[in-house]
Amino acid sequence: MLGAGESGIGAALLGKQQGWQVFVSEFGGIRENYRNELIEAAIPFEDGGHSIDLILRADCVVKSPGISEKVPVMKAVREAGIEVCSEVEFAFRYKGDSKVVAITGSNGKSTTTKLTYHIFKEAGYDAAMVGNIGYSFARQIALQPAQWYIVEVSSFQLDDIHRFKPDVAVLLNITPDHLDRYDYKLENYIQSKFRITENQAQADYFIINADDDLIEQYLAKHSTQAKKIYFTMNEQNMRSDEGGFISNDEIHFRVDGEDAGMSIHDLSIKGKHNQYNSMAAGISARIAGIRKEKIRESFSSFEGLEHRLEFVTTVRGVDYINDSKATNVNSVWFALESMNKPTVLILGGQDKGNDYNEIMELVREKVKAIVCMGVDNAPILSAFGDVIADIADTHSVKDAVKAAYALADKGDVVLLSPACASFDLFKNYEDRGRQFKEAVREL
Ligand code: ADP
Repeated sequence: MLGAGESGIGAALLGKQQGWQVFVSEFGGIRENYRNELIEAAIPFEDGGHSIDLILRADCVVKSPGISEKVPVMKAVREAGIEVCSEVEFAFRYKGDSKVVAITGSNGKSTTTKLTYHIFKEAGYDAAMVGNIGYSFARQIALQPAQWYIVEVSSFQLDDIHRFKPDVAVLLNITPDHLDRYDYKLENYIQSKFRITENQAQADYFIINADDDLIEQYLAKHSTQAKKIYFTMNEQNMRSDEGGFISNDEIHFRVDGEDAGMSIHDLSIKGKHNQYNSMAAGISARIAGIRKEKIRESFSSFEGLEHRLEFVTTVRGVDYINDSKATNVNSVWFALESMNKPTVLILGGQDKGNDYNEIMELVREKVKAIVCMGVDNAPILSAFGDVIADIADTHSVKDAVKAAYALADKGDVVLLSPACASFDLFKNYEDRGRQFKEAVREL
């Protein structure tokens, strides 16, 4: 196992259980709880570097998703021609006759995975939620096998699959991301997302966003064995009589000749992006045989995830919303799209070369003031300087919240949706979201 994070440890535990002679190698440090697990399971490991000689004796290398192909150990492994699998590939081989719903996309994976899991659990299914969210797939199989696995998969997990074959695969959307890991070629990133369907057979389902241009272009040139089911905002975009669509504020999903529908106002999670996520989850649930009434109930009772358009509180008639997970411009687009009150937008952090033109129209329409929150706010100041009159320039969460408070009037909303990574001022996006909520509660 290369890498001793959640996926490396999960794969090690499963490998040992299945009779492999396992060795874990970590370039950095190993968290204490993981270290203890390895000791307890009598699995040999090293940290602070890789013993290449030892690693090159392996029959199979399970590579953690965070490890780049460019590091020396990976180059050596590839040169030696050793089989490399991702953790989801390794886990898949030991899943027995259980079923897999795999969810990928550039945005919305965690939300859709959790919503799908919620529906399955509410329907009484023996389901587990794994992958990038919660336990690794391998750990779940080793410690607590289930009949259904709802797996969140990133493109990195798909890069090294060979047999991984979901019964239901979901591709939510594709927008450029992580290009540094794909030789800066969008085509490579797209290809890697589509690997989710490469081993699927005719009895399997591939659930896809019909409104996504990049997906559309790719499918015009490549085929899949699986049965394709589309979801779309626009009924005219339906490709067959099965699929999901929105019409007159109703969300519909048709599977097996049955049309299930409900008002979009009864969905507990708001915004167009969540309508996409809900259609994908609803279709998956119908394919698994879950009754439409159960799906409706689950859509209303779903609590959503922290840091994704999370309502914090209302202070003097102003709503505060934490969307700290919005680390790219596309996510901010969907956040703004779902706002129906004048918005004070808190933006900023580590800019990954953002093109703010994508949100300019929505900013003009909905944003009354911008608060910059970052070490270097220059890109935001220059992008919006001519568009928004009130722009505050702050460098800490406390000052940002104070500035937003001063700029907002009763009936407005303050939205933290930064479009940037958090590492300039915070440990990660969770830390940013929590500090934001704390500062709001102190107002
Ligand atoms: P992921 O796991 O793919 O990062 P999350 O569910 O954690 O996705 O959501 C990440 C961010 O993207 C949040 O800010 C959320 O509001 C936004 N988002 C969620 N679903 C979608 C979608 N279908 N399309 C675009 N943005 C989305």
